[in-house]
Amino acid sequence: MSIELDSRSLTELASALVSGETSSVELTEAALGRINALDGKLNSFITVDNEAAMREAQAADERLSSGNGGPLTGIPIAHKDIFCTNGLKTSCGSRMLDGFTPPYDATVVERLRSAGAVLIGKTNMDEFAMGSSNENSFYGPCANPWDLSRVPGGSSGGSAAAVAAGLISAATGTDTGGSIRQPAAFCGITGLKPSYGLVSRLGMIAYASSLDQGGPMARSAQDCAVLLNAMAGHDVRDSTSAQRKPENYCDGLNNTVEGLRIGVPKEYFGEGLDGSVAKVIEAALKEYEAMGATLHEISLPRTALSIPAYYVIAPAEASTNLSRYDGVRYGHRCKDPLDLEDLYTRSREEGFGDEVQRRILVGTYALSSGYYDAYYKKAQQVRRLIAGDFTSAFESVDIIAGPTTPGVAFELGSKTSDPTAMYLEDIYTLSVNLAGLPAMSLPAGFSNGLPVGLQLIGKHFEEARLLSAAHQFQQRSDWHRQTPNVELQP
Ligand code: GLN
Repeated sequence: MSIELDSRSLTELASALVSGETSSVELTEAALGRINALDGKLNSFITVDNEAAMREAQAADERLSSGNGGPLTGIPIAHKDIFCTNGLKTSCGSRMLDGFTPPYDATVVERLRSAGAVLIGKTNMDEFAMGSSNENSFYGPCANPWDLSRVPGGSSGGSAAAVAAGLISAATGTDTGGSIRQPAAFCGITGLKPSYGLVSRLGMIAYASSLDQGGPMARSAQDCAVLLNAMAGHDVRDSTSAQRKPENYCDGLNNTVEGLRIGVPKEYFGEGLDGSVAKVIEAALKEYEAMGATLHEISLPRTALSIPAYYVIAPAEASTNLSRYDGVRYGHRCKDPLDLEDLYTRSREEGFGDEVQRRILVGTYALSSGYYDAYYKKAQQVRRLIAGDFTSAFESVDIIAGPTTPGVAFELGSKTSDPTAMYLEDIYTLSVNLAGLPAMSLPAGFSNGLPVGLQLIGKHFEEARLLSAAHQFQQRSDWHRQTPNVELQP
């Protein structure tokens, strides 16, 4: 019996496994088959581990047949190549780590493994998670499954493309300034960036440590809830991990949105927002009203400042995090160094791509004595004000809604020569990271055949409320069920 993997959600596949309609081996073979057939066009994977996946699938089938399976047992998934995987290459999209095989699993990987998910491989990404288009990968760009001439978004572009194209039903991503939500929006899938500290960062290669957060990317909010149940929770090995009572994120999915107060920030609908994206978002908001929620105009007055503040803070943190790649401890080492200086300089010059080098330069400059107060400290003060704007807004609303991105997926190559144009892509996502809030992107419609993402932003640790608001929308719409046809594109 064969099962069409490409259009089913994780939750639907899990019931097919429990009912015996299919097996994990069958699902895993189907996923590997689709990757084999389609990933030449997409380039969504950096590494695929056929043998290990089949072994894990067999083990999952044994667990399922003995009745010991959980909601993720036997489900093929992939990890963004930023998560360390024991014995499996972890490159972070960089030449620097092209030969790196970690001796341990990231906490997220360990938790999904023990929940029984089958690891198929590692997905393509912008180098060290720096980018909004997946074009900064050492392994080449990844294509958007809806239109192969366009970007899938970034930095978790490979995860988003692989889920959208039905190669797998779920993947992990990380979001420092939008890297789960923006590719989810561009590829028409559902992605959740949890509150800072909810998901352990241990073994997740650091970009900007005060902003980085891992989260699920899947077809639906329900699937994200199932994944978050496995991923979230305190980790003694990550000192920034939040100590909270575990929650079951599936419990509240059916809660009504009746009476939910939705804040609509006027700054998210101003200049720069594509007209047809605005129309899709307005229609989605009307749908919420029809379900009994109320809409309230709010103001997040410092939205525009999130770009300069983020693009000082993130590079500053990156410049210190990336100092460990010195050609000595691990990572790329240049051939025949003349002396120590040459070893450092050439190893880093050869190992890091242009965007990473640009960020290291900016970050080192912003942190240097004499400039620290003018740039880094100032940016931190602005960050505080941005967080305060959310706190004030949340005094009168329960969640905030707006577009995830100013436009739809853009053409490959169209912004690569202009870093500022690329950074403007992040206008609606960055401030959420600066404030440490949870947010998601869910499919809300199409503009010229390309998916549009609706962003929902919640209060700290109110992931459950976001997920239920998204699930309720998905009970009334089928945007999240639309699938691109990669086979038919040349
Ligand atoms: N586009 C942003 C950047 O380049 C965000 C990346 C991310 O969230 N990892 O830094």
